[in-house]
Amino acid sequence: MGFVLPLTSADAAYVATWQSTEQRVKTVCSALGRPITALCDQAHYETAVARLRSNNIVVSPTGEVTFTACGVTTYKAGPWIDDATVNDLTQGAVRATSQSMGQGTKIHSRIMRCMNALSATALHNGLPTSFEKEVMLSSGGHMVGKFWSEVPRCVSNFMDNDHFRMAAHLRLALVVVPPGSLCQIAKKNDVDDKCLAEISDPCIHPHLCKRGPARQRPHRALMVSLKRVLERAGAEVDLERAIPALYRMDTAGKVTEAILDAVVITPGCFSTLPVDVTIRCPHAQRTTNRASITPSVAASEGEKDKQTRYGSSVLPLSLETYGRMGRKSLQSVRQLANQTVAGSIASRFHRGSDFIAMLRSDLERTLLWNIADTTLLSLGHVWRSRGRQG
Ligand SMILES: [Zn+2]
Repeated sequence: MGFVLPLTSADAAYVATWQSTEQRVKTVCSALGRPITALCDQAHYETAVARLRSNNIVVSPTGEVTFTACGVTTYKAGPWIDDATVNDLTQGAVRATSQSMGQGTKIHSRIMRCMNALSATALHNGLPTSFEKEVMLSSGGHMVGKFWSEVPRCVSNFMDNDHFRMAAHLRLALVVVPPGSLCQIAKKNDVDDKCLAEISDPCIHPHLCKRGPARQRPHRALMVSLKRVLERAGAEVDLERAIPALYRMDTAGKVTEAILDAVVITPGCFSTLPVDVTIRCPHAQRTTNRASITPSVAASEGEKDKQTRYGSSVLPLSLETYGRMGRKSLQSVRQLANQTVAGSIASRFHRGSDFIAMLRSDLERTLLWNIADTTLLSLGHVWRSRGRQG
């Protein structure tokens, strides 16, 4: 059975949504930030504060943001307490008081962070199936989710409609598979040799399919994306390079080579940073009982595997199917970005943090497009559109 999505202007809708969100941010800032700096009337301020308190968030006249006792209990019972403590949410990313009060943006970000934390905890708690909980934990969380909050920077960042819609559906656990669907992913060298495994609801098979395009393409795309972004900032990147120092020999004298996905040489640096990329699925049997209650379980398994094989000299880059990056992988991204920016006189990035954001966003966009592509392929998207039927 073919699978064709109706054509809509998904990218246009995305941009419009982003613009209206930005407008709402300004509105909330003026409603909450300005009264605290005495730029607006007292009644408006008190109404806003009372409404926040009814949502378990307390804002003081001096701009401190905390949870109520009930809010603290709710958040601590949720899955993200290891990602961000209550203190991280209420105090994090605030600079000098004058800055935080300035236009209301700092206090706004603290309030939004607390509101998001409580609403996400309630949403996770209310999801009826483990599958949906796994998707949610694998989609968001600490330092992940750039792609969905950032407008595309250039035309090449735009996804075509089918892929954008599938990526959004996947990330929201909304993919409905036509009954009786069989996986249409073919071998790379034989388009008629299809996988034909049954794709039942929930749609998990495409993420675990063993066929080449399903396994290799997203992995390869991440490597290429990493290379492209780092090279634009002045680094040299070799893909699939052998590192003899990491070869292993067993007791019988058999040598296992170490071919690293990417080896990065940052500008002005005379050492190499080997990187190994892995994509882990939270629905895989190895993690499925834990991935619905603990974030980043699958990505952490990937990082542990890399550590066991290569030790700490290789930077792991372990992402989960829906975009979540492991904690050590985030450190890898920070190290790669900071080291590249620090050594590059030609870099257009003034701060490492700008480059970290861009690198993360590009990796996530690449992964989401490719996971959407694999799912579309599995459902017969390309097979039908190329007229290979029969
Ligand atoms: Zn398959």
